[in-house]
Amino acid sequence: MNNQIEKWVRPEIRALAAYHVPDAGDFIKLDAMENPYTWPESVVDDWLNILREVSLNRYPDPSSSELKEGLRREMAIPPNMEILLGNGSDELIQMILLTVLGQGRKVLSPEPSFSMYKMISTFVGLEFVGVALDDNFELDLAVMLEAIKQHQPAVVFLAYPNNPTGNLFDDTSIRAIIEASPGLVVVDEAYHAFASRSFMDKLPHYDNLVVLRTLSKMGLAGLRLGLLVGPKAWLSQIDKVRLPYNINVLTQASTAFALKHHAMLEEQTARIRKDREALMQQLASLAAIKVYPSQANFILFRVPQGRVSAIFEHIKGKGVLIKSMHGASPKLAHCLRVTVGTPGENDAFLAALKSAL
Ligand SMILES: *Cc1c(COP(=O)(O)O)cnc(C)c1O
Repeated sequence: MNNQIEKWVRPEIRALAAYHVPDAGDFIKLDAMENPYTWPESVVDDWLNILREVSLNRYPDPSSSELKEGLRREMAIPPNMEILLGNGSDELIQMILLTVLGQGRKVLSPEPSFSMYKMISTFVGLEFVGVALDDNFELDLAVMLEAIKQHQPAVVFLAYPNNPTGNLFDDTSIRAIIEASPGLVVVDEAYHAFASRSFMDKLPHYDNLVVLRTLSKMGLAGLRLGLLVGPKAWLSQIDKVRLPYNINVLTQASTAFALKHHAMLEEQTARIRKDREALMQQLASLAAIKVYPSQANFILFRVPQGRVSAIFEHIKGKGVLIKSMHGASPKLAHCLRVTVGTPGENDAFLAALKSAL
């Protein structure tokens, strides 16, 4: 049996560690950037009435046209730009990479950043080049431009705001990277709902820029819907590797419904932005830790050397699950990341952290 695995499973797959998602159990879950708020009962009732009408015996609308209309309206998508939908934005990252796949081709992204850029590059068979951010987690433009010149990447990913650091990279640097890139530049705006800036309105200025968004961090993580927005020339090619019916009927109907209640989601994300500032101030008042600025729904902070595991475990012992970034990248040594939850959850986390320190 093991002989077969060694003979047939690609070495780069055998070398990968599976993407590990810890069992949440009864923890207060502040590890995965989820929106902690649910819907009022009357809204849930209206939603269930819509689902009653969905035909599970039929294939979904292959182009999700009603859904795209709703997204175009709510996300200020420029009129001459196309939309491509994915089963989460993770699937769109995979589709982009399958489209450019080829011997010796490379994908480039700053590091630390979203782990799936490297993971998906590796499993589709593209070489991944990580370029270190500076000590403030800002793009080191000279180093980025040199790496682009040297490696000629097919795709550059820029998470904006960046995960797991929380900051928005400098706009002028991003523009210089788009202009210097020989291939596609993907600005990944997964945390757009919590940020003050976007590249969506810059799309018409570049023919090698696409913007990636997701509904996951806005409050619909369970639905799995991501969208890629950009020029038709690129999107019509990427669309060819999409599996037919990748957006199921329940997701299509539920997302169209949720978009009609956009104001409710907007209220929830506004609340999270406000609570992020309160949590940030509380963290900043703790002398033992260093907090990094955030335009996302999470906060990265660094604890004293040698104590990260003990602090993480202590917080977990108090029933609060956050994420340890220690070991994920040299720049993230002794770092922990906490998702902004409800005020009560944030207080529970702060109390646990203070007692750990
Ligand atoms: C969470 C996240 C995604 C993936 O979101 P899904 O749509 O849930 O697959 C993409 N990019 C970044 C930067 C993220 O943090």
